[in-house]
Amino acid sequence: MSNNSHIAFIGLGHMGGPMAANLVRGGFAVSAFDLSEAALGKAREAGVTIAPSAAAAAEGAAVVISMLPASRHVERLYLGGEGEADEGLLARLATGALVIDCSTIAPAAAQRVARAAAARGLAMIDAPVSGGTAGAAAGTLTFIVGGAAEALERARPVLQAMGKNIFHMGEAGAGQVAKLCNNMALGVIMAVTGEALALGVAHGLDAQALSQMMAVSTGRSWATEVCNPWPGVLPNAPASRGYSGGFGNDLMLKDLGLAVEAALGSGAAVPLGELARNLYAINSQAGRGALDFSSVVQVIAKPPLG
Ligand code: NAD
Repeated sequence: MSNNSHIAFIGLGHMGGPMAANLVRGGFAVSAFDLSEAALGKAREAGVTIAPSAAAAAEGAAVVISMLPASRHVERLYLGGEGEADEGLLARLATGALVIDCSTIAPAAAQRVARAAAARGLAMIDAPVSGGTAGAAAGTLTFIVGGAAEALERARPVLQAMGKNIFHMGEAGAGQVAKLCNNMALGVIMAVTGEALALGVAHGLDAQALSQMMAVSTGRSWATEVCNPWPGVLPNAPASRGYSGGFGNDLMLKDLGLAVEAALGSGAAVPLGELARNLYAINSQAGRGALDFSSVVQVIAKPPLG
């Protein structure tokens, strides 16, 4: 993969927009498509060439990257819809093209698309990311990859222009499974950290003093040290600015739903993941779906809003 190769990028949202901009900064020629005019406008300013459709963006591309909301968008893009008129992108790609899907989707959906790609002689990896919008903008994302090792090696220079760490977890779908494992642990840890702080405060403890103790004790985690859910404990955490910014509650809810679905498919037991999914669903129903996921503490206690 040389820097002169043309990359097609489909989905220029909160994550895809800055990722495509980093590819341009890395010297790649990027032609892209999104359904949103606002997303297209921002990408154009970053030097991305805008195409009139996904198929037009992918014409002659050596690599296609997608960063779409959910499984159904990814399957529709690559496999198409009902009838011949709605042909998917896989049918249009040149033999030898490499497909990289960075969306967080169901492992089973990633495997379906990868199988269809292989049937057409196309290489594909699932490469969901961790690091959020800040990591996407800074080019420091972690890529969690499933697929053949040779396909990952071809993708590596492209991924390196958008991220810092790359983990190869196994065959097709393994990247998605690993991403869901991480986020399920994160969702549970955030909820129980809020619960622990609420218990302490209910007994008259100071949330900051409790957090400082926990941050150097065995209850320590990213949730106590970096994204503490109690308002005022960490000035830079979303909790201290009314839970704005950060990783949205509904994105966590989506990932926990995918984890539970994956568990149903494999017979794995995820009792805490299922419980956490319900807590984030209740938080969403309470009107906090767009707020940072640490606002789930509000389901358990009523901390003063920061
Ligand atoms: P987003 O909603 O901001 O962006 C998705 C973009 O896809 C939108 O601009 C939308 O217009 C576009 N789109 C939808 N269907 C399309 C189609 N058929 N053709 C072209 N464009 C289409 O979402 P996001 O926050 O960028 O997240 C994208 C993926 O990354 C999701 O799977 C999400 O779970 C995952 N993710 C997000 C974060 C985060 O912090 N936002 C972190 C890690 C992973």
